[in-house]
Amino acid sequence: MIELQGITKSFGSLQVLRGIDLTIERGEVVSIVGPSGAGKTTLLQIMGTLDKPDSGSIRLNGVEVNRLGEKKLSAFRNKEIGFVFQFHQLLPEFTALENVTIPALIQGVSAGTARKQAQEMLDMLGLSERAAHKPAELSGGEKQRVAVARALINHPSVVLADEPSGSLDTQNKEELHRLFFDLRDKLGQTFVIVTHDEGLAAQTDRTIHLVDGQIVR
Ligand code: ATP
Repeated sequence: MIELQGITKSFGSLQVLRGIDLTIERGEVVSIVGPSGAGKTTLLQIMGTLDKPDSGSIRLNGVEVNRLGEKKLSAFRNKEIGFVFQFHQLLPEFTALENVTIPALIQGVSAGTARKQAQEMLDMLGLSERAAHKPAELSGGEKQRVAVARALINHPSVVLADEPSGSLDTQNKEELHRLFFDLRDKLGQTFVIVTHDEGLAAQTDRTIHLVDGQIVR
């Protein structure tokens, strides 16, 4: 469960988040929508511990993440939070399988086990035949599904996705959206998705409307 309380954040004189209170339950698929510049990405980054708020608290499964030192926080983030970005951000010199193993290797899982887990994850996402391909040899939709596999490899508490389908065509977009809901149904996976896609937002369990750094609905 994710609990944000009183989160504020400014960049210089620009107040980007103005007191965000938000609780997300395990297994929820939540979308965050709002106009450009509303603070959606900033909120997601703070939720994912990639950035720190100026004030307020973030608890993930009861752990007050702001109190963790840098080393513990980094291990906690790698284990508990999966990220999917608009552009896949796979490492180009590694195969799909190798890309998916990386968070497991960082977590200290042995190379053999990490490969086995990565292959299982790719199988589950319908990418069995693509494991040995490098990102340049994959379609846009496949690259995003590999990025989802990488986000899931350590069985995180939550996957945070920032415009995950923003670079995809309609068919791949719909496939990716279906995948999120399948994974929630199969694994009970929690997703928080920043999106401009109204179709996706309408399908999620809950939509958070952010305007000018505040939740308005
Ligand atoms: P979009 O839908 O366009 O992606 P957003 O709602 O995700 O927008 P953010 O990316 O969170 O908005 O940005 C909110 C505001 O904070 C914007 O005005 C942006 O320019 C500013 N901002 C974001 N990150 C930084 C930063 N590191 N330094 C300075 N200003 C920043």
